[in-house]
Amino acid sequence: MKSDEIYALLKTKPAIIAGPCSIESNEQIDEIAGELSALGMKFLRGGSFKPRTCPKSFQGLGAEGIVYLKSAANRHNMFTVTETLSPAQLDEHYGSIDVIQVGSRNMASYGFLKHIASRTADDHKPVILKRGFGATLTEFLFAADYVAENGNNNIILCLRGIRTFEQIDSLLRFTPDLASILELKQRTDYPVYFDPSHSTGSSKFVIDIAIGALALGADGLLIETHINPEKSLSDSRQAITPYSLLKLIAYAKNSNIS
Ligand code: PEP
Ligand code: MN
Repeated sequence: MKSDEIYALLKTKPAIIAGPCSIESNEQIDEIAGELSALGMKFLRGGSFKPRTCPKSFQGLGAEGIVYLKSAANRHNMFTVTETLSPAQLDEHYGSIDVIQVGSRNMASYGFLKHIASRTADDHKPVILKRGFGATLTEFLFAADYVAENGNNNIILCLRGIRTFEQIDSLLRFTPDLASILELKQRTDYPVYFDPSHSTGSSKFVIDIAIGALALGADGLLIETHINPEKSLSDSRQAITPYSLLKLIAYAKNSNIS
């Protein structure tokens, strides 16, 4: 499928990108892909080059994980969404990535954004750009301009929580920047996604924040899902099961908020 058609699917509400924080094994990604595709999901996320805050944390399976992700997606008729951390990694795995994820920590890596702009200039492969957790909305929109500079406007803006004083003593990992959905919808035509997983850091809050984001007009969601969240090798506290995701989809459909 061509990039423009994939982008059109990403703009079709309710668009949901789901999958584990990290690809952990061939079996793990294949099993979750099977469950998600049975729920009608088209976009399979999974990290293999993980931008972990602590260098001792699980860093992902690297090149091997991308192979597992791509083959699981192929088997279950899905598209891959994954992050790379450098121009060289992107180039090496370009053919296996359907949607290029730029993580929060790389939103302001202008050299990398310029590379993505030139690499995608011909095929316009969709790019999901996550907001830097310390970035203003203007800085976020400038980062999108870097990607668009050679004509690739197939960009999704993804809010994922920001750092505020609240994190000094709250249960939340970041402050969900829900009001920014409204402002971005006024300031740009790019689809606006919300990530209820990283913005809350807690599976207890994921569904409610996701519903809130849809109610505020978010075009899509990026949600971490795991067959067995407690066993997840990264971000285990915020992962939800495919069963919980099913409940969210049912709620969104019944209440007409998507
Ligand atoms: C992710 O979605 O895999 C991720 C690492 O999120 P963020 O870049 O928003 O921290
Ligand atoms: Mn994660």
